[in-house]
Amino acid sequence: MIIDLDKNIKVIRPEGKAMYPYCNSIFIDDDIKTLIDAGSGGNAYAQIPKEEINLLLLSHSHFDHTHGLDYFPQAEIMAGREEQYAFVDEKAFYLSSGFQRWEAFMGSPKEVKMDSETPLPDDVLAKTGFRPIKLNGVFKDGDEIVLGSTRLTAIHTPGHSPGHYAFFFPDKKILFSGDLDISPRGPWYGNEKSDFGDIIASVEKLIALQPEVLITSHRKVFYEQVEQLLRQYIQIALDRDEKIMAYLNRPRSINEIADQELGFYALGKTDFNVFWSKVMILKHLERRIKLGEVEDLGNYCYARI
Ligand SMILES: [Zn+2]
Repeated sequence: MIIDLDKNIKVIRPEGKAMYPYCNSIFIDDDIKTLIDAGSGGNAYAQIPKEEINLLLLSHSHFDHTHGLDYFPQAEIMAGREEQYAFVDEKAFYLSSGFQRWEAFMGSPKEVKMDSETPLPDDVLAKTGFRPIKLNGVFKDGDEIVLGSTRLTAIHTPGHSPGHYAFFFPDKKILFSGDLDISPRGPWYGNEKSDFGDIIASVEKLIALQPEVLITSHRKVFYEQVEQLLRQYIQIALDRDEKIMAYLNRPRSINEIADQELGFYALGKTDFNVFWSKVMILKHLERRIKLGEVEDLGNYCYARI
C-alpha cells in the first residue's frame, strides 16, 4: 500500500503488518528517486519503479530495514557514519548483538547466531545474519540531502543502535523516526551497543523538531499530537527505570530484577524476549552507574549508592 504524504513523499507499507521482518519505507519521487529503508518486502515494492531508484538511505543496519536492498540494483546506498562497522565487520556485527551474554543471562550456552527461528516470507530476499553491504557513502548528524524540490535532514538518533538516524523534511514538518517507533511497549534497546541515555536524548531531539506528521518503521502514520505521542512513548521506559530503582532498595541481581513486572513480555515470554529484557535492564543500570547512582557489585549484581 502507498500513502501519499505530499506530491513527492510517499509511505510504502508492507503487504501484511509492518512488524518484523517488515518495516515501512519512504519513497521520495523527485529528481533523485530515493528510498528510505529496504524492508517492506518485494510485494510492496512491486508498486514503485525499483530499477529507477537512485539512492537508498538506511536508518540503521538491522535486518528488517536492509533485506530488500537487492531489489534496487541502480541505487547508491548510504547509512549513518556511526554504524558503518555493521556492514563490513562481521565480528563487530555479532558482538553488537549482545548474544555473547546469553550463557550468563540464560544459564545455558547458545551458539552466537542471529537466525530467527521462524521462516521468512518469500518476498524477503536476504537471510538473517551478517551480510557485507557496500556503502557508497555515509551521512552524519545535520546533513542536508537535496533530491530536487524535496530536501531532508539526517538526524542522528542513537540509542536503539549507535548509528540510528531519523529523517526530517523541514519544509513539510514530516518526520520519519525509524525504530523510535511509538510502540505501545516503549522503545527497544536490547542490543549490546544500545544506550538508554541516548534513547532519552534522541526522543527529546525529535520533539525539538516540532514535527506535525510522524512516520515510524513499524506503525501507521500519525497526523496529530506527535509531541504527545513521543512523550508517552519515552515515558514507558522512564516509568520502567523508576521501578527498577525502587526495587534496588537492597542489592539485587539482574535475574531478580527481570522477575519483576516491567512490561517486557507483551509479545510473549520467549527465550529471546527474556534475554533482551535482561540486556535492556542492563542498559538502565549502565545509565544509572554513569550517573553515579548505582554500583556494579560484579556477577550482574547491583546496589543503589
Ligand atoms: Zn532496529
